[in-house]
Amino acid sequence: MTVKLPIYMDNHATTPMDPRVLEAMLPYFTEKFGNAASRNHSCGWAAEEAVEYAREQSAKFIGAKSEKEIVWTSGATESNNLALKGVAEFYADKGNHIITAKTEHKAILDTCKRLEKDGVQVTYLDVGTDGSVDPDDVKKAITDKTILVSVMLANNEVGTINRIAEIGKITREKGVLLHTDAVQGVGKIDFDVEAMNVDLASITAHKMYGPKGVGALFVRRSKPRVRIVAQIDGGGHERGMRSGTLNTPSIVGFGKAADIMMKEGREESARIFKLRERLRAKLYGALDELVWNGAEDPWHLPGNLNLSFSFVEGEAMMMAIKDVAVSSGSACTSASLEPSYVLRAMGVDEELAHTSIRFGLGRFNTEEEVDYVAALVIDHVSRLRNMSPLYEMHKEGIDLKSIEWAAH
Ligand SMILES: *Cc1c(COP(=O)(O)O)cnc(C)c1O
Repeated sequence: MTVKLPIYMDNHATTPMDPRVLEAMLPYFTEKFGNAASRNHSCGWAAEEAVEYAREQSAKFIGAKSEKEIVWTSGATESNNLALKGVAEFYADKGNHIITAKTEHKAILDTCKRLEKDGVQVTYLDVGTDGSVDPDDVKKAITDKTILVSVMLANNEVGTINRIAEIGKITREKGVLLHTDAVQGVGKIDFDVEAMNVDLASITAHKMYGPKGVGALFVRRSKPRVRIVAQIDGGGHERGMRSGTLNTPSIVGFGKAADIMMKEGREESARIFKLRERLRAKLYGALDELVWNGAEDPWHLPGNLNLSFSFVEGEAMMMAIKDVAVSSGSACTSASLEPSYVLRAMGVDEELAHTSIRFGLGRFNTEEEVDYVAALVIDHVSRLRNMSPLYEMHKEGIDLKSIEWAAH
């Protein structure tokens, strides 16, 4: 086979940059180096023009009415922090309650933990076994103290797509703001801040074939006009919401990445979906005891395949297939291997969570790569299971849960 190693199938963690994006960025490092805030000479104007063009591209990309609703940040972590802290601070007089979900990205969960220390009350909604937030649960959790609901568009581990449009109907009706971490879904699935009644949305370039370290926060300007308190003070850039000299080359890259996604995303998602189904069919055709994690299509990201390979430790598998970049359902913390909190919130038992692998397919993956990875995974799962006494006992029909282990 003629594949080049390593093979990258971890596109939820980051994506390689599209060469077209790099090309658009390059002049802004050298000949067009001006500061977009320099209002008194042409070098500044050129930078400002480029930044404003990217702002228009990005606004259009998410269905925003005005480019003035885009605030540049250093990435989605900052966008999430700015959205939650900025809203909590501005609307403190109105209420102190935020609703989010247990499966959110750490950039949301850790921000909520910080806010709790400052007296904000946070409801962390449970999710279904498919990883989705029930819009009804959102409705029930809203009180007269609720100022914000934050639910992600699509989950980065298991690919579950949330019913943002339904949640948006509820929040709009109740007069509560809706923020969504749209990082994983934007460009890949339908997303439109107007149609879905989204008031704030976080996105980042490096999950859509742009550069790392640049993101945006959509902040609605009308119906309703959303206000946030800046979390970084300085020169009052970005309409006072986020100070700091703008990173022109990266912002140009953001705009270009958004533009490509807007034009090609739909077709691309169909192609990536086929690759994912090819991988899934090959694995299911050759292996038993596989567990699909996440929602069923169409509520599942086209490029996400998260499977539990019962009786095979995810970490062992990652070592075995080290020429393939994927992620496992275990997070390496300082001392121990914790099972993914997302899988746990979905009710996946700890044992099974440790055997899960996330394949994240993207723009630059090929059929040849899928075939290579499928063969490799099948080979190693079979080998590792053949070495597993538990798998053998399971095959003999012994109920492993009924066994009294000596080492208790
Ligand atoms: C990657 C990711 C983030 C963080 O984005 P950065 O730009 O890397 O800070 C936030 N939310 C989700 C869902 C992500 O996948």
